[in-house]
Amino acid sequence: MATLDTIIIGAGWSGAVAARQLAQSGYKVLVLEARERIGGRARTHTEGTHVPVDLGCSFIHGYKEGNPTKVIAKELGVGVDVTKPTESAIYGANGLLDASAANDLRDRLGRAHATARNTALNSTSLLPSSTTPLSAAFFDPDSALSTSSTPSTATAFARTLEVPFGAVLEQVSLRWTGWEDNFAGSDAAPHGGFQPLVERVLAAATHTGNTRVQLGETVLRIQEEQSGVNVSTDKGVYRAATVICTIPLGVLKRDAAHLFEPKLPVRRTETIQGTHVGILEKLVLTYSDAWWPKAGTVGSFTFLPSRTGGGEPKTADDVLASATLVVASFAGPSLPRQHPTLLFYLSPTPALGLAKFPLEEVTDAAHAFLTARFQPGTQPAKPTSSVMTDWHKDPLALGATTTPSIVGEGRSPLDFAELAKPLWGGRLGFAGEHAEMNHRGSVAGAVISGMREAERVNLLLTKLAEA
Ligand SMILES: Cc1cc2nc3c(=O)[nH]c(=O)nc-3n(C[C@H](O)[C@H](O)[C@H](O)COP(=O)(O)OP(=O)(O)OC[C@H]3O[C@@H](n4cnc5c(N)ncnc54)[C@H](O)[C@@H]3O)c2cc1C
Repeated sequence: MATLDTIIIGAGWSGAVAARQLAQSGYKVLVLEARERIGGRARTHTEGTHVPVDLGCSFIHGYKEGNPTKVIAKELGVGVDVTKPTESAIYGANGLLDASAANDLRDRLGRAHATARNTALNSTSLLPSSTTPLSAAFFDPDSALSTSSTPSTATAFARTLEVPFGAVLEQVSLRWTGWEDNFAGSDAAPHGGFQPLVERVLAAATHTGNTRVQLGETVLRIQEEQSGVNVSTDKGVYRAATVICTIPLGVLKRDAAHLFEPKLPVRRTETIQGTHVGILEKLVLTYSDAWWPKAGTVGSFTFLPSRTGGGEPKTADDVLASATLVVASFAGPSLPRQHPTLLFYLSPTPALGLAKFPLEEVTDAAHAFLTARFQPGTQPAKPTSSVMTDWHKDPLALGATTTPSIVGEGRSPLDFAELAKPLWGGRLGFAGEHAEMNHRGSVAGAVISGMREAERVNLLLTKLAEA
């Protein structure tokens, strides 16, 4: 390969999209990826499952509402299944809630959230302060949740939001509630899962003959040089005109101080440390039969805590009983390929609680938990396989994705714009879900930031060539 135009660090969504775009414009690109696989936080699991199950991203949110991932999938000839709305069921401490109680909870949470958004929209320069959490509005004595006839049930239900946030309600800023412009509405799941789709994106880059992908190579240092950059890995040193860094925010928090030469400016360093990477883990139980009630109609179950008080949970059973849990059922009619699999979306509290126990213990506890809550007539067979993610411990992710703006002096969505700003006269660019102000935390954010950086580098290289 001739002299490199760009080195892209990371072969996740953002890196793959940037590589494809630059390679198709004729630039020489090297992609350096520390893992032995492509995809990053797109990871599709097939061992012991009925169909491929995504352990990282699984849905193209806002598929019909303009998510650019839709265009990419179409260009590559990858089909998708658009999800159909399904019933959801809520289990309280004493069993399944009837429709009226369940609708009351949904309505109250909707109203509390709308009030919080309105407060944020009408905030002054001082109030609510940037240190006021969303929980303050939700749990205010006059809130729609607190005025329920069963306030503890209503507040426990509000914690379902901790799944998409990846953060507890006490961490999320009230001031910026609803600020983001994420794609929403319809969801779609790519056929075969997300990891093969990212592989296809990168294959389109290598197919041009302009891109080389090196797996299992960790970048240790990124240095500004006269009219270029040097990137050192555990295997070699490479030189290029530009570099796009898609290293996740969690990893930047750990490594930024010794990764860049010259060091990143103070404002950038402070923003890296001041933003938050959330926790969202998945626990997948594969069964031979869909033994749970209304398996053919219900697509998701919410379980409210059955254990309150009693101190810190000491066992995996305690963790599950103490948490608000959202469980997706693949046996429901949401997707065309139904299969007897249950997937727990674990928000920070249960995720950190369960991470202390071995998978076998967690699997047994989860199966016992489901049996106790569903109360089937006969004892169901145990899962045939299970898997639990540990994104928060994965050294190349150190978390699921960035969270909405968290509480803290000076914190705002502008932080995500700061994280996206190029440095070194434009030769050092940043992409990734953390580097896109409106769509942070999603595949869309990674894709949009990758496209943006590819376009920016294209313009810069054109300008440099003409100089
Ligand atoms: C459990 C979970 C569920 C999710 N669900 C959804 C969903 O349904 N829909 C949605 O839109 N989004 C979802 N997301 C978010 C989505 O997965 C991410 O936003 C997206 O995959 C991030 O892409 P990225 O390119 O920014 O980062 P990554 O995919 O993390 O890519 C960065 C790459 O850099 C590599 N790297 C790190 N350090 C180095 C180094 N020093 N040298 C070389 N390489 C390095 C990493 O190994 C990684 O491959 C989910 C995430 C999780 C964890």
